[in-house]
Amino acid sequence: MKRITIAIDGHSSSGKSTMAKDLAREIGYTYIDSGAMYRAVTLYALQQGLFAGDALDEEQLEQQIDRIRISFRLNPETGRPDTYLNGEKVEKEIRGMEVANRVSRIATLGFVRRAMVAQQQEMGRDKGVVMDGRDIGTVVFPDAELKIFVTASPEIRAQRRVDELKAKGQPASYADVLENVLSRDHIDSTREESPLRQADDARVLDNSDMTVEEQKALLLQWYNERVNRC
Ligand code: C5P
Repeated sequence: MKRITIAIDGHSSSGKSTMAKDLAREIGYTYIDSGAMYRAVTLYALQQGLFAGDALDEEQLEQQIDRIRISFRLNPETGRPDTYLNGEKVEKEIRGMEVANRVSRIATLGFVRRAMVAQQQEMGRDKGVVMDGRDIGTVVFPDAELKIFVTASPEIRAQRRVDELKAKGQPASYADVLENVLSRDHIDSTREESPLRQADDARVLDNSDMTVEEQKALLLQWYNERVNRC
């Protein structure tokens, strides 16, 4: 069967990653979490002391950007890929609020985006990938055979994120998380570099009132329809 490229874009905490991971596993594709890459760059900047409070030393980060390599390795225990920053596993570190509160700022920087897009295109060169993010169907893989744009209401997304953090033993208040979701939506949609927008040829999936199982079935149906047309 022909292998295709699947681009899944959408708002933060819309459940994109869960659905992209499940779909990839189901059809034997490689899953790539592009958001994890921007998070890893943010962690790198924090580790190198490039943030003073919220202020970032952009010049230093630009000088060092080519030294940042992000990779993914399948974790046999979870069956899901873990994120590595220059060979070191950072899956847990990139999911906390310290990174979440700074990542959208990092993702507005053109030199960061160019470096990450180049790494993403390299990872998807041989097709057979499901990549999720904000600009996958518009910038990274504009020729992807299947593009999906995922959304849900901000309140539902915030509650999902609170539940997720709680399950990981990192409790956070609903009000803080909702504020973070709204602020990331705003930054992601209004930034100059590759703003979050729906590709003209994307299929829209609003999962506010859908179960994970319903989503899974719909995605699989879309995938099969698309592959059968190849
Ligand atoms: O998907 P996730 O919420 O982990 O992404 C973290 C942040 O990275 C997003 O809020 C967004 O600012 C940025 N991002 C991006 N382009 C992508 C993926 C993520 O700008 N392709």
